[in-house]
Amino acid sequence: MDCDVAIIGGGPAGAVVGGLLKTYCPQLDVVILEAAKFPRDHVGESLLPTGCEIFAEMGCWDKIEAERFPIKLGAIYRWGRTPDLVRFFFLAEPFLEQIRPGKFSGQRAVTTWQVDRGVFDKVLLDHAASLGCRVFEESKVTKVGADGDSVTVVEVDSEAIPEGKVKARYYVDASGTRGMIRRAMGVEIDSPTTLRNIAVWDYWQDAAWIDRNGEGTYIRILSLDWGWLWFITIGETRTSVGLVTSAEYYKNSGMSTEELYQKAIRDEPNIGPLLATATRENALQADKDWSYLSNRIAGDNWFLAGDSCGFADPILSAGITLAVTGARKVAYSIRALEEKAHPAEWVKSEFERTHRSNIKSHIRFADYWYLSNKKFTELEEYCAEIAKDSGLSLDPKDAFQWIATGGFTDDYSDEPTLGTYKLSAVKQIIGQFTGEQPEWQVLKLPRLRLNLEGAEKISAAVYRDGLIKVKDTWIRGDTSLVVDAFYRHAYMALSSEAETMKILDLMRKWIVARLPDRNDHTARLIVLEVLEAMYVQGWVVAA
Ligand SMILES: Cc1cc2nc3c(=O)[nH]c(=O)nc-3n(C[C@H](O)[C@H](O)[C@H](O)COP(=O)(O)OP(=O)(O)OC[C@H]3O[C@@H](n4cnc5c(N)ncnc54)[C@H](O)[C@@H]3O)c2cc1C
Repeated sequence: MDCDVAIIGGGPAGAVVGGLLKTYCPQLDVVILEAAKFPRDHVGESLLPTGCEIFAEMGCWDKIEAERFPIKLGAIYRWGRTPDLVRFFFLAEPFLEQIRPGKFSGQRAVTTWQVDRGVFDKVLLDHAASLGCRVFEESKVTKVGADGDSVTVVEVDSEAIPEGKVKARYYVDASGTRGMIRRAMGVEIDSPTTLRNIAVWDYWQDAAWIDRNGEGTYIRILSLDWGWLWFITIGETRTSVGLVTSAEYYKNSGMSTEELYQKAIRDEPNIGPLLATATRENALQADKDWSYLSNRIAGDNWFLAGDSCGFADPILSAGITLAVTGARKVAYSIRALEEKAHPAEWVKSEFERTHRSNIKSHIRFADYWYLSNKKFTELEEYCAEIAKDSGLSLDPKDAFQWIATGGFTDDYSDEPTLGTYKLSAVKQIIGQFTGEQPEWQVLKLPRLRLNLEGAEKISAAVYRDGLIKVKDTWIRGDTSLVVDAFYRHAYMALSSEAETMKILDLMRKWIVARLPDRNDHTARLIVLEVLEAMYVQGWVVAA
């Protein structure tokens, strides 16, 4: 069988690459080869708001909402120095109960869902089919043929494809951790992390909801001395309860995964009452070795999307969001190659640069997250190591300060984020771990100036509205300053003013004028986030 684009795997990454390609390039013949028959169960149920923008862009936010998944309002966890339960909210104001199905606007644009992956993944894959992708379920790719750095064919075991071969002009590996193309092309992976964990989980019927607010709820994360538990309500009556512990603890415990799972639930007084009237489905599942980053994620005629590129750790609830963010870049890249909008090598290298750094930040953040459960001095020292990894030489105390003010923020989007978490959220989380609320450093400085010393100007890719746009970008070490959107406002304000308060005011006025739906308070928060991210990375210094 011949086609333009062959995608291996119909999970969220595969469905988003296919769906966005058919949205922007309907003339392309896109084939999705999926081994399973959907619906099929999959772990990874708690989402982050960033991914929802992509579901809206693809035209399926309403279809997901129609399934009435619980609305995720944030997280409640016990972690770090405090034995108390702490909360992390997506919303700055109380959640207003909604008539469902809702719309992707207002509070619903900054909250998300907790999903039953069987149902959720099927909605996405069916949506890709409705946009014109040719979807083949029960069609397992058994071999990837290669010639040099090019994929030549994929062999598939499928009744619907009797010739057993699919040839395409572009190939996308969205096969998750199986990494069919990644392995066939001999791409090595790095596990640049101390994360060596295993997970065991099962589903429960009729468990209580956590802090139910209409159809809104929270993920609950509880650290034990020897691991942590997740509790995620994924439907009116179904709940996912899982345990993550180190592979070493599991090995030394001498217990079976079932025994460990039961011990975790027994040991945790916050979980028992929620499960008092619940029935376990009794289909315990386990996974391990998920934390890695592929050394290459694009080649001659192939791209990796989703978990095949890499994954950090379940603690961040960021897997799907990272998967679909990368998948979107793959779809835009193939479009750009088709339309010869930019030089092919640049398109691929920008995808590599931006997406790999995004996953890397997540891995570092997950590392930090685990370490922050231990002694504070160890954490400070570890922060210095993380800073070194980013090309900065800082003593432990300064390194901690750097991270606590957003040192992970090295991915570009309109607003400063750690790929999927906004800078203010990173600050909120870190403040709760350490018991010390990080302050806005820029507010302590009366005057500021732009610092481009030692930086080189390049043309970087910005992925927006279906297109790859070229933007002037300053690069220094691992960090970049894209002169675009809110960062452009900062660039201009810093070029004409030096007093911090005047800079803040100028930027706030521009943002409110450009985006009338943002009130003064949100505009001020954006300004602070942008300037703080620039300060943390050394683009802004005291004048
Ligand atoms: C323990 C654990 C907990 C997690 N918790 C969360 C969470 O709370 N929130 C979150 O966002 N993420 C979480 N994740 C991560 C999340 O599950 C993944 O990041 C996400 O599923 C990635 O999507 P994907 O499309 O890349 O891969 P997948 O969802 O794995 O989809 C890959 C698809 O490819 C198909 N496939 C594989 N091999 C072949 C083949 N040879 N031929 C054809 N098809 C094939 C598979 O059947 C599958 O449908 C968790 C992960 C783990 C391990």
